Amino acid sequence: MRTARYGVGVRNRLDDIRKMRTQKYKCPRCKKTAMKRLYSGVWRCKRCDLEIADNAYSLSIKAL
Ligand SMILES: [Zn+2]
Repeated sequence: MRTARYGVGVRNRLDDIRKMRTQKYKCPRCKKTAMKRLYSGVWRCKRCDLEIADNAYSLSIKAL
């Protein structure tokens, strides 16, 4: 069934987004895995308070 398959696809995509936005990312300044999503598109490091404006759901910056 097309509608059922479409529903599963949407659910998987939402799961991926939820994982990405709750995941911690490596801070480009202090190199600790402490970057957390503050709100949409803004990420903050819990250790050094570095704030980065980036993607809404994931952090694309690996190192500066
Ligand atoms: Zn940091």
